[in-house]
Amino acid sequence: MSAIDTLPPLREVIAAHQLSARKSLGQNFLLDLNLTAKIARQAGDLTTCDVLEIGPGPGGLTRGLLSEGARKVVAVEKDTRCIAALNEIAAAYPDRLQVINGDALEIDPLAYLTPPIRIAANLPYNVGTELLVRWLTPPEWPPFWQSLTLMFQREVAERIVAQPGGKAYGRLAILAQWRAEVRIAMSLPPGAFTPPPKVSSAVVHLTALTKPRYPADAATLSRVVAAAFNQRRKMLRASLKGVAPDIEDRLLAAGIKPTDRAEQIPLEAFCALARNIQKG
Ligand code: SAM
Repeated sequence: MSAIDTLPPLREVIAAHQLSARKSLGQNFLLDLNLTAKIARQAGDLTTCDVLEIGPGPGGLTRGLLSEGARKVVAVEKDTRCIAALNEIAAAYPDRLQVINGDALEIDPLAYLTPPIRIAANLPYNVGTELLVRWLTPPEWPPFWQSLTLMFQREVAERIVAQPGGKAYGRLAILAQWRAEVRIAMSLPPGAFTPPPKVSSAVVHLTALTKPRYPADAATLSRVVAAAFNQRRKMLRASLKGVAPDIEDRLLAAGIKPTDRAEQIPLEAFCALARNIQKG
């Protein structure tokens, strides 16, 4: 089901509703509906899922998600100017699009969604990373979502899929790979967006694992990893000094040399360290 809809082209929608892109809201729009349908396909089979879309803007990706057969889309947009344009899409897809005017960092859209739920978004990267970390660190697992299909700056996408040993490896790689299968699904040049951003972008697809790869408490692991990579050039015994007493012994018990640096440490060892710290 990939027929592009019969609504007006996005350039006309933007002109009619005067949706000039605002830098303050990180607005770089996708106007090519073939491309937005292709991004929607990266999210997997949508026909049996509700989709939470954050930051729909004028609705390019929203239209992709609907034309690809999403059972229902709940779209949360902060910019009030976009709501009338989005409501036109809702009228073309009766009962399948619910538009919410609000800040994704503040509202709880769960009340509107029925599982299974997938999330798709092309968001400003700072909001995107903050939401990603929230979606990855609830105390209980599995989470309310099955998969995340998210556009990021290429450099952020590489941090999510990074392996130990490189500069890109850090908090995002660990939190993402601990509880999800991650891959870069698509790369997009700046010219795919209007206006074009300065850097390339990539779509990252994350599938929630049924249980985390290694046992650990989410809050403790987050705290350990944040401290370890906050001073990534320091030896771990120094960067983690304030995190728990007797840190050298705990590092050794987790199989980590206290003189190692954070970027050398695999996920499994960080989880062992978090378990040791939680034990008290
Ligand atoms: N999805 C559209 C597209 O692909 O063309 C728009 C993408 S644009 C990069 C990001 C969108 O997120 C904008 O429409 C912006 O207004 C919206 N946005 C920014 N911060 C937001 C927030 N905190 N909550 C909800 N939407 C937000």
